[in-house]
Amino acid sequence: MGSQLAQAYRDGFAQIPNQAVLLALCAGLFLALSIGLRGLAGSLKNARAAGEQSRINLIFWALDLVTVGPLLAVMAVSGGLLLHRLWPHSPLPGLWAWMGPVATVSLTIFLGDFVAYWRHRAQHSAWLWPAHAVHHSGT
Ligand SMILES: [Zn+2]
Repeated sequence: MGSQLAQAYRDGFAQIPNQAVLLALCAGLFLALSIGLRGLAGSLKNARAAGEQSRINLIFWALDLVTVGPLLAVMAVSGGLLLHRLWPHSPLPGLWAWMGPVATVSLTIFLGDFVAYWRHRAQHSAWLWPAHAVHHSGT
């Protein structure tokens, strides 16, 4: 059991470079979308205007990758193992395969956005606002 658990965590951590590639592909897609919508000159003007913010965002992204990434891998593997223990015949793995990658990614983005929206709304409550205010201090 111990070696299976260790292997599950190793598999989870092995996904981190894939996540980085996926994020880089998404960034490239948004860059192409920006160039398509604003043209190259307009996009370069926007990029220069947002240069410092973009640099800071890239630094935070890199920090997230080495701090939050491993934490998310541990949480994802732990959640999967817990779900498997509590609900050994769960139809979810088969559901993902049945839905196919496009529907699975679309549902994942929708659910992720849904959770992020309500998490952010909660951070504007009186209890969480003192810690969250710094997030809005630049705007
Ligand atoms: Zn906020």
